Amino acid sequence: MSPDATATPRLTPVPPVAFETAGTGEPPVIELVDVTKVYKSGPLEVVALRSVALRIGENELVAITGPSGSGKSTLMHIIGCLDVPTSGIYRLAGHDVQSFDDAVLADVRNVAIGFVFQQFNLLPYLSAWRNVELPLVYSGVPTDERRQRAHDALEKVGLDDRAEHRPGELSGGQQQRVAIARAVVTEPALVLADEPTGNLDSTSSADVLRLLEELNREGRTIVIITHERDIAAIAQRIVTMRDGEIEPAHEPDVSAAGRDSTTAERAP
Ligand code: ADP
Ligand code: MG
Repeated sequence: MSPDATATPRLTPVPPVAFETAGTGEPPVIELVDVTKVYKSGPLEVVALRSVALRIGENELVAITGPSGSGKSTLMHIIGCLDVPTSGIYRLAGHDVQSFDDAVLADVRNVAIGFVFQQFNLLPYLSAWRNVELPLVYSGVPTDERRQRAHDALEKVGLDDRAEHRPGELSGGQQQRVAIARAVVTEPALVLADEPTGNLDSTSSADVLRLLEELNREGRTIVIITHERDIAAIAQRIVTMRDGEIEPAHEPDVSAAGRDSTTAERAP
């Protein structure tokens, strides 16, 4: 990142969500209280989340794991303000997300939170740097600054030399690194990744996890849905989901991770 890119004040377009008010007694970045999510399709109801309680503090890196269908993506969509709970409270940096109007929600999703998905979700007809600049287009950053910041973000993921390539001309691992550059080009305080290594070989997976760790070391809060096999490489804290509930604490394999462990969230 150039000094120019970091000189842009973080999150100023989103006045209600100030993540960076350091000091004691700050609210957690993420706080879910008794959150339930029920999907209804006709007469069918699927309970995807049951009374989920979760707190994630500033600058934590949390891995969410659990079997397919256990509610991980549903939880991530709620955390990312892409969906709303059926009942319960979600507070983002201390603010009840239900109180956000559409304009604030759009800013939160575009600027305050960076998303990385399993399928990369890059636009195939745009070059790498054009993909990366998109969140800045939506938030009205001038053209020259967009180009500079997009290239800086690509440099950070080691792909500035691929800036003019389209996604189809890049490997899966490179596409996911472009997606990470796009996720962080707005300098978000929170990065959410839903199975970011799900379509990658082990070498590319390691690259992606290393990049997410680096973002965490820079002070960002990171939540990653990932497979058991990737967890040892990254976990400071593991949240395990089963049947829409967060399982009681289990310790990460610190011998493999070589990091301090804390306990997983325990639902009341
Ligand atoms: P995971 O990411 O752990 O695989 P999901 O959160 O995607 O789990 O899904 C949790 C449950 O909710 C599953 O039973 C799934 O079929 C159901 N589900 C997810 N999304 C929808 C939806 N849009 N409509 C109906 N049911 C859904
Ligand atoms: Mg999922």
